[in-house]
Amino acid sequence: MSHYDVIVIGAGGAGLMCALQAARRGKRVLALDHAPKIGKKILISGGSRCNFTNLHASPANFLSRNPHFCKSALARFTPDDFVQMVKDHNIPFHEKKLGQLFCDRSARDIVAMLVQDCEKAGVAFQLHCTVQTVTKPDRFLLDTSQGSLSCKSLVIATGGPSVPDTGATDFGYGIARQFGLALVEPEPALVGLTWGESALRSFGDLAGVSAETVITCRQTSFRENILFTHRGLSGPAMLQTSLYWHQGDPITINLSPDLDLGAWLLEAKRIGDKAELKTLLASRLPKRLAEKFCDLYLPSRPLLQLADKDLASFAQRLHRWIVTPNGTEGLKKAEVTRGGVDTDELSSQTMEARKVPGLYFIGEVVDVTGQLGGYNFQWAWASGFAAGQAV
Ligand SMILES: Cc1cc2nc3c(=O)[nH]c(=O)nc-3n(C[C@H](O)[C@H](O)[C@H](O)COP(=O)(O)OP(=O)(O)OC[C@H]3O[C@@H](n4cnc5c(N)ncnc54)[C@H](O)[C@@H]3O)c2cc1C
Repeated sequence: MSHYDVIVIGAGGAGLMCALQAARRGKRVLALDHAPKIGKKILISGGSRCNFTNLHASPANFLSRNPHFCKSALARFTPDDFVQMVKDHNIPFHEKKLGQLFCDRSARDIVAMLVQDCEKAGVAFQLHCTVQTVTKPDRFLLDTSQGSLSCKSLVIATGGPSVPDTGATDFGYGIARQFGLALVEPEPALVGLTWGESALRSFGDLAGVSAETVITCRQTSFRENILFTHRGLSGPAMLQTSLYWHQGDPITINLSPDLDLGAWLLEAKRIGDKAELKTLLASRLPKRLAEKFCDLYLPSRPLLQLADKDLASFAQRLHRWIVTPNGTEGLKKAEVTRGGVDTDELSSQTMEARKVPGLYFIGEVVDVTGQLGGYNFQWAWASGFAAGQAV
């Protein structure tokens, strides 16, 4: 039996940060992972360039049943703190847009930085190691594929089950249940939404078309691109929307956020524009999308032959296109899992379970989910830091 002060299960972003902080405080720390390789999700993130934080991260960018829970951890480890680590390691990076910071070279730089710092601080690693049972007579006892382990503090940093190909599992939820902690229903998020049968017949052939839109769902709006796919709608605006969408919710899409199409079409008619509706519309929207809306909702004729009221209601439909997806692309494609260990069960200062002293949950396994744009890693770093100071 090997004894540690702290065992962190899951050597992803949150686990590595927690292990590092704890080891720097002089704790004897083991970071354990069932994968043969450290930080797989970091490696595939941000198109392999890892959008490692967002300069504008604030609690408003996070979704949780308790929106206040993330505040303390986010305030104690900020984007600037992580940027300082990146600078200390001379890792080149850039801001892509909207405060999103990416590595210039590769996400491997971030994993190498964390592993190097952990090793320097004395963190031990045990990879390819499966945890079979966890019990807590006094200390935590772990039976693993590589022998028995014990620790005073056990940190669960196993993330969410999205993209199982990376080694993602729902292990953390199982531990929470075993120790009597409540979960908020875990669901795929930051994921494309799928059409029902009839919408698929109408819009499936638009696959590949992309347009800048404003999408609104449950009073939350995002202005970014949508992408039509063979199964539904994706693209950054739709991924963001998926964070807030629940089965049965309608979504309102404004396909022309900058131009009042009704006023524009009526003015074109008034000055005698002889163009067909779809030709005119294609100067403002992707051609296939313009043609599709004409085919479905107002047969394209020269503008002068169309009634004002028909033009106005057609334009209104483009500004308030209401769709009701029938589901999501699922965990296989989702960038994150929303929901997870109920924050009511945890201390927002330390991430320790209130009912189980010594048991901590950090990162994506907790019911705190960030929007697209580097926020989920910022939560992983911040929650890992908070627990690392307390274990
Ligand atoms: C394709 C993709 C791209 C993304 N891009 C970004 C991005 O650019 N920016 C951003 O902020 N977020 C991004 N995310 C989200 C981000 O990767 C996660 O939110 C973040 O990695 C969560 O960190 P974590 O440490 O909680 O969990 P993870 O990084 O998932 O780490 C969990 C670790 O636990 C291990 N583990 C799981 N189960 C077990 C078990 N039973 N036993 C032992 N070990 C186990 C896993 O092997 C893994 O190493 C992306 C996600 C995906 C899927």
